Amino acid sequence: MSEVQDEADMDDNIPNTPLESEIHYCAAHPERDTELRCNRCERYMCIDCAVRTPVGYTCRECVRGHENKFFEGTTVDYGLVAATCAVGGALTPFVMLLIGGFLILGFIVAPAIGGTAAQIALQLTGRRRGRYSGYVAAGGVLGGGIASAFLLVGGLGLFTLLYLALATSAAYARFKVSI
Ligand SMILES: [Zn+2]
Ligand SMILES: [Zn+2]
Repeated sequence: MSEVQDEADMDDNIPNTPLESEIHYCAAHPERDTELRCNRCERYMCIDCAVRTPVGYTCRECVRGHENKFFEGTTVDYGLVAATCAVGGALTPFVMLLIGGFLILGFIVAPAIGGTAAQIALQLTGRRRGRYSGYVAAGGVLGGGIASAFLLVGGLGLFTLLYLALATSAAYARFKVSI
């Protein structure tokens, strides 16, 4: 008895016009039909709900979620990033001094130091990236490196600058990935 009723209900739910299934409605405004889809969560949205981004149209919720992730960096995070990267930067001229004349080796080691310092900073901050983390990391490496170069050899040589630039860009790049 009840089985028969259920079947009847199901029949009613099947759309009888094939055209109806081709029309999509905005998830926030069910009365508006649209063909626009969010490029992140793929839901349908009307033009009022769509936000134009460099990679296409995104719904407001996804844009907000993206921004929240972006702003997670706190002052403590930035402090940790700056301090860790400054240590890495300070180590760079020191290691270069140890390497001495092996200039080619410096081109490999300097970015490795910058990248490692940034990696440690990321671990310390629980992989949170703030909007300015890349700049803070770069500033930390550069600042620590310049201070250390002056202490160790009394100034910046051309190669010290070059190595520091490599270490700085490596640290910056580590914070730029997958934002
Ligand atoms: Zn979305
Ligand atoms: Zn809408």
